[in-house]
Amino acid sequence: MTDTLRFCEAERPWLLETIEALVRLESPSTDKAAVDRCGAELARRLTAAGGRVERVPQVERGDHVRAVFPGGPTQVLVLGHYDTVWPVGQIERMPLVERDGRLHGPGIFDMKSGIAVAILAARAMRGTPRATPPTIVMLWTTDEEIGSATSRALIEREARASAAVLVLEPSLPGGAAKTSRKGCGEFELVVHGISAHAGLDPGTGASAIHELARQIIAIEAIQDLPRGISVNVGVIAGGSRANVVAAEARATIDVRVPAMADVARVESALAGLSPELRGTRLELRGGVDRPPLERSDRVVRLYELAKGIAADLGRTLGEGGAGGGSDGNFTAAAGVPTLDGLGPAGDGAHAAHEHVIVDDLAWRAALVCELIARVGAEQKD
Ligand SMILES: [Zn+2]
Repeated sequence: MTDTLRFCEAERPWLLETIEALVRLESPSTDKAAVDRCGAELARRLTAAGGRVERVPQVERGDHVRAVFPGGPTQVLVLGHYDTVWPVGQIERMPLVERDGRLHGPGIFDMKSGIAVAILAARAMRGTPRATPPTIVMLWTTDEEIGSATSRALIEREARASAAVLVLEPSLPGGAAKTSRKGCGEFELVVHGISAHAGLDPGTGASAIHELARQIIAIEAIQDLPRGISVNVGVIAGGSRANVVAAEARATIDVRVPAMADVARVESALAGLSPELRGTRLELRGGVDRPPLERSDRVVRLYELAKGIAADLGRTLGEGGAGGGSDGNFTAAAGVPTLDGLGPAGDGAHAAHEHVIVDDLAWRAALVCELIARVGAEQKD
């Protein structure tokens, strides 16, 4: 354990240099060329670290990067994404700079530092003496920030072949791991009405906007904040002119649920909405596309393991829940023990003050390395 920590501490310059290289290669989800430039650098560094690297080609998105660090029969999946929410050029507005022990830069917290930490963990596994370590599969995807449409199947397949999934997404404030995440979904409610001249012929129309107003009240009633269920009508649109009875109106609805049972509950409540005004009709699209990561016994066991290792390393690893989803939601819902938020401490994901705490980087790599080793050892027992 102390060997691992010493190894990782000594590699601090490598870690910082790797983080900086990845952050400089800006990689917004929707810019394939830019993402692939970052992916090429990532692949190069994974290869140099001893990984067998494969780029999983995509047409519209950046290529996903998969790396295998061969070991024993047990596989541990190390998961994350290298796309960011920032456009190319953001680095000029948010320069890579260290101030008061914090390293700033676009995508540094969410989650390029987590990737660098994971690669150092794999290097530490090889660089310190130990019995057969498990096989590490790393999957660095390119569309997490926009819903993971092209990576979800790959993530689930790799997770099902693994004893555990460690997600290097940003940690919670203070560096705590995420043992639960809400499930998330987006719905669109389209109201179809009948247009008419608002002055000459109002009685023959059926206003989609007046109907939508009624539906919004009904949608709000589905929300149950004490139980952690949020239902937010975030965007509305409709109508054409003030003197026309609106033929169409629509609402975009964000849904967050803490438990799998709530998914069906909210979905059926929304599907059960019915129009009040004669002549109008409702159409519902969308669904919960990220199932919740529930704090199951298997998640807690994995967390307890990590907490024990952290304590041996002289650190405290807290835990908590997150309202937002990640690809860890998919792996947990697939029934594979998943510990999320293992990335270094920092703050400001998707925000101008995005940064990581420099002193929290190296020991994280030791934590991830030892956690992988321990999961492998447990599987053998
Ligand atoms: Zn992220």
